[in-house]
Amino acid sequence: MPLWGIDLGGTKIEGVILESANDTKVISRLRIDTEADQGYEHILDRIVLLVQKLSAESGLTPTTLGIGTPGTLDPITQTLKNSNTTCMNGKPFKKDLEAKLGFPIALANDANCFALAEARLGAAKRVMPDAEVVFGVIMGTGVGGGLVVHGKVINGRQGNGGEWGHIFLDESGGPCYCGQTGCVETVIAGPSLQRYYESISGKKATLKEIVKSYEAGNDPYAQATIKRLLEMFGKGISVIINIIDPDIIVMGGGVSNIDLLYTEGIAEASKHIFNTKLDTIFLKAELGDSAGVFGAAMLVG
Ligand SMILES: [Zn+2]
Repeated sequence: MPLWGIDLGGTKIEGVILESANDTKVISRLRIDTEADQGYEHILDRIVLLVQKLSAESGLTPTTLGIGTPGTLDPITQTLKNSNTTCMNGKPFKKDLEAKLGFPIALANDANCFALAEARLGAAKRVMPDAEVVFGVIMGTGVGGGLVVHGKVINGRQGNGGEWGHIFLDESGGPCYCGQTGCVETVIAGPSLQRYYESISGKKATLKEIVKSYEAGNDPYAQATIKRLLEMFGKGISVIINIIDPDIIVMGGGVSNIDLLYTEGIAEASKHIFNTKLDTIFLKAELGDSAGVFGAAMLVG
């Protein structure tokens, strides 16, 4: 049976139809603008329009679909929360969209879709197809995470399953938009690293420039910023390893392109592991921008 997936972003909505759960050949794939500035109802209409376009292109009619969203559907209140497309927060998004589409949908936040796609189609599948537990982390402008067990996303009672970005890491991260202090995101997200660099050097630099300076070895502030990243990444991810002990951790997002994470970052993590050695397999994500929409389709497959 074909699988339909929608990846709802703040600026674009992408939709895909895959042949089946076992054959992920793409039947149709389309993108349209979200036009989020026109409000919540308009976003719902845009999703319906995209489904109609996919239907017209493929000649297929969906009976369900999976959708990845910024933010999480609270399982108890059935309303969306923590979305950076703020007009969606507090809205019964799943119920409203089902009413417009006329069929049931499955919904998960975008980090969970990323983890699911990398587990079932991407890096984890390539390296260990029978992995029981895969943890996906996105380290970019924010930090997110998703937990996949036996090929299924663990959403959790509050919808916060795998939300690695907002567990406590270090006071030095300062206040977080989420209301807590020292969240993982405030310490190791790209903007947090740039902020730290500026705070000690008095200079602005992009993450790329900081990494370049670190590699050139001529900027003590870049050294300090990257050394702190590796230490903090090790501390933060060790918590995940000690609690759920995943077979594989797949990492995506701009910060995950820093190669040192896969050597010195892992060495830092091993200092905090409740074991004599660290066997967890760390992999770079392989599906790129496609992970969101493929993972959404996998929610119903
Ligand atoms: Zn936070």
